[in-house]
Amino acid sequence: MTNIVRSDTPPGLAATSREFLASVDGMSDEQAYEHYKDHKNRYQYNTPETKRVFQEMNASRCSFCTRYIFEFDSEMTVEHIELKSKCPRKIFEWNNLLCSCKTCNCKRSTNAYDRERYLDPTAVADIERYFSFCADGRVEPRQGLSEADRGRAQYMIALYKLNRGELVSERRRFFADLLDDDYYELLAKRGKTDQNIIFWAVFAYYKRSREDHGR
Ligand SMILES: [Zn+2]
Repeated sequence: MTNIVRSDTPPGLAATSREFLASVDGMSDEQAYEHYKDHKNRYQYNTPETKRVFQEMNASRCSFCTRYIFEFDSEMTVEHIELKSKCPRKIFEWNNLLCSCKTCNCKRSTNAYDRERYLDPTAVADIERYFSFCADGRVEPRQGLSEADRGRAQYMIALYKLNRGELVSERRRFFADLLDDDYYELLAKRGKTDQNIIFWAVFAYYKRSREDHGR
């Protein structure tokens, strides 16, 4: 995960949020969620406007696995940090929304939000310090984190299954492409510190490619 600078609230979404909040005024959360489900055609968050803002804001990348989303219009999904069913009043709240690839969204499913451990890439400026990438392609909590921070990194890796097979092999391939075979073999035998140095090189590469996409 890398830091994302959140854009201003899309005006259409803000208007929908205001209208929805007024319509559920006085309702319990359960009632408000039912009301939302009954009026999904009227109240929408994944509009062309939101998509456009997310595409620009994320440089077409998933907020969690950072993969490039090639068919943004059809492949991008909106992830609710606090779940729709638990927090219906935040369904249209811009700060509660992130853009996600379909797989990350699906992997998280309806797993609960943990306020103490969730790392929002638009709210945690130094989010990169939580993670390091190993030469074998896995992502791990970075060495030297406090116990609490380590728990946060582990929670995010588990919540979005950031060590799922295809991500691990993509990262491994990426490392292998960066380095010639001999050095890759050597690196795999080296300690975590050396691997971290490579991680920062990879991270700088990602940052550059984000900037190249109009950031
Ligand atoms: Zn993803």
